[in-house]
Amino acid sequence: MHRELRDVPQAVSTGALPPPARIDRIVEAAHSRYLPLEDGAVADYIPVLAAADPDLFAVAVTETDGDVHEVGDVGDRFTIQSISKAFVFALACEAHGHMVLRERVGVDNTGLPFNSVIAMELGDGHPRNPMVNAGALATTALVPGATPAEQWERVRTGLSRFAGRSLELDGEAYHSEMLTNHRNRALAQLLESYGRVEVDPVSLVDVYTRQCSLRVTAHDLAVMGATLADGGVNPVTGERVVSGQTARDTLAVLASTGMYERSGTWMFEVGLPAKSGVAGGIVAIAPGKGAIGTFSPRLDSAGNSVRGQRATAYLSRALGLNLFASAAHAEPGQRSGPGERSAPGDEQSMARKTGSGEDRTA
Ligand code: GLU
Repeated sequence: MHRELRDVPQAVSTGALPPPARIDRIVEAAHSRYLPLEDGAVADYIPVLAAADPDLFAVAVTETDGDVHEVGDVGDRFTIQSISKAFVFALACEAHGHMVLRERVGVDNTGLPFNSVIAMELGDGHPRNPMVNAGALATTALVPGATPAEQWERVRTGLSRFAGRSLELDGEAYHSEMLTNHRNRALAQLLESYGRVEVDPVSLVDVYTRQCSLRVTAHDLAVMGATLADGGVNPVTGERVVSGQTARDTLAVLASTGMYERSGTWMFEVGLPAKSGVAGGIVAIAPGKGAIGTFSPRLDSAGNSVRGQRATAYLSRALGLNLFASAAHAEPGQRSGPGERSAPGDEQSMARKTGSGEDRTA
């Protein structure tokens, strides 16, 4: 939290999801609507990713009460890739606090591709945001641990707590990426040259590549996201994984940077903090309500899953998740004039406000 507001308690403002049977129907509809879509291409810059089955498609929603609604290939495993950046950011934030992450890694969009070297060079080697590779490396460097092996274990167990099950490394994906990740090695060396990391850059890239190679399912992503939606408590296991403040900070950073250089367009169209990865996963989070996990390997030119984006946009709209959508309290003509307004805190006025909120989300 910003120091200046330390004495002000964090109040929350969230609504409710529709009833469970309606969520089931909407999740089914999102899946069947976009199943025929074959636009985009599977990532191939990491050799093993090129072998993914492009037809796989999964949609999962986890509510903050732990209920899960899912359809399609929800049990198929894929590598988490860049989506790990969101959860490793949460672990680093939990260990060091809001201001350290804000100052050392940054929270602003670079407007440039995720593996850009120029973005770093333009700002004296400051990585600028934790969702691009430079900032993700700087974030992983902040994960507590005396050795890279300890840091890796902390990452693996931390992300497992978000998922509510023990996540394992996809050894083939890890080795495949280690053969081709010259650019990430260059970014880590640059971070070191600017004095931005205090760990060995070679080991740092190793831990980072492992974190990207953790195997997850769309179901896992929905549970991981729902933990951020639920103030840091995993709604399925009941375990507190991070503080409410860390969950909020993580979502705030995703809102501006989670969907690569298309984050602004994403927010404009979908209105939810989200993170995607090049293996085809996307997690989108509705604070206080739940999260959406999707998986479909065909990507657009920015690296975001085509079907995953469309299904998430559909769900955001149909389930009433868009953070910026509102309905008028009263239509023009039905409004009471300023003079007739009930006093703030007036019981009738409060009841009306609560009632209208429930109507909208039912
Ligand atoms: N491991 C990948 C990389 O560092 C992750 C990229 C992504 O999912 O955006 O290039």
